[in-house]
Amino acid sequence: MIDFHCHLDLYPDPPGIAAECVARGLYVLAVTTTPSAWKGSSSLVSDKGRIRVALGLHPQLALERKSELRLFDELLPKARYIGEIGLDGGQEYRLSWNDQIEVFDHVLSRCSSVGGRVMTIHSRRAVTPVLDYIERHPGAGLPILHWYSGSKKELSRAIALGCWFSVGPAMLAHERGRAMAATMPRNRVLTETDGPFGLVNGRSALPWDAEQAIQILCELWGRDKGYVHDLLRENLHKIGRLAESKVKPSA
Ligand code: MN
Repeated sequence: MIDFHCHLDLYPDPPGIAAECVARGLYVLAVTTTPSAWKGSSSLVSDKGRIRVALGLHPQLALERKSELRLFDELLPKARYIGEIGLDGGQEYRLSWNDQIEVFDHVLSRCSSVGGRVMTIHSRRAVTPVLDYIERHPGAGLPILHWYSGSKKELSRAIALGCWFSVGPAMLAHERGRAMAATMPRNRVLTETDGPFGLVNGRSALPWDAEQAIQILCELWGRDKGYVHDLLRENLHKIGRLAESKVKPSA
C-alpha cells in the first residue's frame, strides 16, 4: 500500500507512526512543510526502507518561512523528492499570495537547475496559476498534483502538461472528487492520505487509511483489488526510478 503524501512529522507520535508503517510494509512519502523540518524527518526514517522524505516549503507558510529558501537550496542536491510546495488561492492566504509566487517560482527554477525532481504539489483554489508556473518551468521535473480540487477543464490541462495525481479518502469522499479521479489516466495515479490534515470518518487519517482510497478506485475503475494494487505499485516504481535517476549518489 502507498501513502504518497502524508505529514509524518506532524502526528503526535512520529516514531510510532513510522514504526507502524514499516511493520505494515507501507510505501510512504513523508512531506515536509519547511526546509528546516527536512533533517529531523530524514533522521526519523533513515533506516526505514520504504519511507522517503520530501523537501518542501508549504504555500500556507510562504510568508513566515521564505527566509528558509536559502536552506532549501542548500539541501536540494540531496533531496530526491520535493514537497509540499505549490500555491493556495484561499481567501485566508490572499495576503501572502506574492510571497507564495516568489517561493513557488524559486523552487521550480532551482529544481530545473539541478536537472528536475519529483514534486508533490498543493493547488487548492489555485490550479490555473500552479499549471501556469509548471508550464513556465518545463525542466523542473515531474509534478504530482495532490488532492486535486480544480475543475474538469483544469484537469484536462494538467493531464496534457504531463501531471500525475495522488488521491486520498478525503478527496474521494465526495462525488466531485470521485468524478475527477475517474478521469485521471490510471497510469499516473497514486494514493495518499494527507494525514494528519486529511480526515477519515471525522478523525486524522493515518497512512494505512490509503486502503480506503484503493477501495474507491476499485469501484471507479470496475476492477478488483489485485489489479489496483499492481497498477499503483507499477506507477510507484516508475516514480521511484525517475526520482533515483535525478540524484547522483553522494561521494
Ligand atoms: Mn499536505
